[in-house]
Order: sequence, then structure tokens, then C-alpha cells
Amino acid sequence: MKIAVIGLGGTGSAALRFLAQSGHNAVGYEQFHIGHEHGSSHGESRIIRYTYPDVLYTQMMSDSYKLWFDLEKEAEEELFIRCGGLYFGDKNDRDVLATEQALIASNLPYERLNAEQVKEKHPAFHLYPHEIALFQKDSGFLRATRCVEANIRLAKTYGAIVQENTKVQEVYTKDNKTFVRSNSCEEEYDRVIVTAGPWMSSLFKSLDLPLVTTRQQIVYLNINDHNEYFQANGTFPVWIDSTDNLYGFPNDGQITGIKLAYHHCGEIISDLDAERAPVDESYIEEIRGYAKKRFPNLGSDVTYSQTCVYTNTPNADFIIDRVPNQSNVFLVSGCSGHGFKFTVLLGKIISMMATDDNGYQRDLSRFKISNFL
Ligand SMILES: Cc1cc2nc3c(=O)[nH]c(=O)nc-3n(C[C@H](O)[C@H](O)[C@H](O)COP(=O)(O)OP(=O)(O)OC[C@H]3O[C@@H](n4cnc5c(N)ncnc54)[C@H](O)[C@@H]3O)c2cc1C
Repeated sequence: MKIAVIGLGGTGSAALRFLAQSGHNAVGYEQFHIGHEHGSSHGESRIIRYTYPDVLYTQMMSDSYKLWFDLEKEAEEELFIRCGGLYFGDKNDRDVLATEQALIASNLPYERLNAEQVKEKHPAFHLYPHEIALFQKDSGFLRATRCVEANIRLAKTYGAIVQENTKVQEVYTKDNKTFVRSNSCEEEYDRVIVTAGPWMSSLFKSLDLPLVTTRQQIVYLNINDHNEYFQANGTFPVWIDSTDNLYGFPNDGQITGIKLAYHHCGEIISDLDAERAPVDESYIEEIRGYAKKRFPNLGSDVTYSQTCVYTNTPNADFIIDRVPNQSNVFLVSGCSGHGFKFTVLLGKIISMMATDDNGYQRDLSRFKISNFL
């Protein structure tokens, strides 16, 4: 089949690779260059974990992990750093308790640690006596930009065509034929997959998807002393503070210091194409305040900072479906700030849907467009 993939971030790049690998005539469109920093899939690190307060996501991660390992093998490149993960919060935190239940239900190993045990194993962390942590050894981080680049490199090897700096203006169906109109040409396709991330709504205005795009900020702070406490060799795991809603990483080996960020949604972006302001001073101050209490060996110097976009659905569930009234068009959207770890799986699922392959075994009814309209 001749299939277009529109938007080559984490999800689209994976879909393109799977389609080309299966022998389809796959064409990818990307409005910027591959690996650009205007969307959601760029940077040195995205957390990968089973630890979810929701058993479906935990179980889907089993499928996703396998596909990441395949990608690493095919690309002959280290893309996943397994350094373990701490999911912590107040001992009554609903999400910590639900996450523990999801791990048990999925038969996954984990350790429940109190503040002292965390200090012993991971000396950079300061937890309070009222807090508990779940340590899960398979957590870690993915090198996001390199994952996208690896997918694209392999997709091209399998015969895909990649059109960079090509913005798709419209996807439409007329007389049962589906067309993609870009800033350079118009082309007919058997199937079209749209993985446009934050720009999704602009291609499907009439659908009125409830997507909200927000400006997110990340900050790296310097390590003051005990550099060895912050390394990705198991000493410093990736972490999520469920109660205060922050997350972070060990030193990623590329950028000085360690990365921390708030997960809660930032300000709404009304014009995605406008230049974005750099990270706010007030945000940096909040991060410093948190770090001072949580990581006593961290400094307060910002070694790097960056902004990024979340594309949020009201309940943070993804949207994965065929487009109503356009039976040849499929979309994935609403990754809601937690989608990177799934992008390889989402690319696989949507490429299967678009090629009439019903082989994916999990119930995806939660992700249907009709749930969001
Ligand atoms: C700061 C931050 C931290 C995050 N941390 C994590 C984490 O730790 N773990 C995790 O799992 N997830 C995390 N996420 C979420 C994750 O990064 C995203 O969910 C994921 O990258 C979304 O991928 P995507 O392919 O759907 O979208 P994108 O990466 O945005 O890709 C969409 C692509 O479509 C292109 N495009 C759009 N419109 C058009 C058009 N008309 N024509 C051509 N091309 C078009 C865009 O240019 C873009 O390249 C984080 C996100 C942010 C912003």
C-alpha cells in the first residue's frame, strides 16, 4: 500500500519504520527537520517505566519495552539507559498506592522503601518519614532525539521516503480517495497516518478534538558535591515525586548537572508557530527551592534549560483511532506529557490499524475518538 505518515516525532518516525519494514510504500512528511526542538520528542532524556497508577498503561509498557529493545538492536545504538526508577510520595498518596497495585497485578518486581532505605541505596535523595518509595529496576530513560533519528535512519534503509521541511496543509477524502496536500505538492494515498503531536487540531478542525497544548519547562542544576551520587549506574535512578508532581533524571552523560521538571501543565500555547519564550526565572526559583530540600548535594546554578510542548487530553489518555468519515485516515494524539515511552508502540499500533492488521491483543477502546467528543 502507499501510505503517508504526517509528523515525524517519536510516534510518526516509529510508524514510518514499521510500514517500510513491512514492505509498504511509505512516505513521511515533517514540517521541520528531523530531530528539531519545536515539538515534544527532542532532548537527551524521557523517562521509561512500568510504574503507572493504571494497569492498562503498565501492561502496554511490556509491549513497548520489547519494541525499544528491537529498535536498539536494529539501530546498533544504545538508546535506553536502565538505571532503575523511584516513584515516591506521601504514604497515603493515591497514585503511589495505585501504582503499587498495578505492579502487583502485572506481576512485576519492585521494592517498597522507606525514607531511610532510600537514603541507604540512593544517597542523593532526601525523603521525609511520612513518604514511601517504590523502586522498580527496569525504569530508566530513553535518549529521545536519538530514538527519532534511529527510526528515520532505519525507515530510509527499508525504503521509506522522508520529506523534511514539508508542511502538510490538508488531508482530505473525495470520492473515496484520500489526498495529502503539502506546501510543495498534492499526492493521493491508500492510507494516511497523522501523528502531528501539538499541531493535530489544525489538521482536523472540524473534529473539534479536546486537545490543549501547553508550554513545559525543564531545568538542569549543577552538582555541588558527591558527583558519584548522581550517576546513572543505579546510584541515582530516574524519579517521580507523585505528591509534589515533579520528576527528574540522573546525570545523562551529555549535559552537565541533572534535569528536573514539574509535570503539571504549563501555560496554554495559543500560537504553536510563534517563537517560545525561554524558561521563566520564577520557574527556576521553584525548582531550586524543591531541589534544596530533596537533593542536598545539588547546587543552584542552571547548567541548561529548555522548553517543550505537552498535547493534553482531558483525562491524559491517548487518542488512537481511525478518523470519523475518513476511513483511510488514522491518528494518534494526546500523548499528554507521558507518551514518549509509548511512541514506539503507538507507531506500531497505528501502522497495524492502517494496514488492516488486527493482531494487537490489548483492548484499545479507551483510546477511541468517540470517548473524547
Ligand atoms: C518537557 C517534556 C518532558 C517529557 N517527559 C516525558 C517522559 O519523561 N517520559 C515520557 O514517556 N514522555 C515524556 N514527555 C512526553 C513525550 O515527549 C511526548 O508525549 C511525545 O514525544 C509525543 O510524541 P509525538 O510523536 O506524538 O509528537 P511530536 O514529537 O510533537 O511529533 C509531532 C511531529 O509532527 C510534526 N508536524 C505537525 N504538524 C505537521 C504538519 N502539518 N506537516 C508536517 N509535519 C507536522 C511536528 O513538527 C512534529 O515533528 C515529555 C514531554 C515534554 C514536553
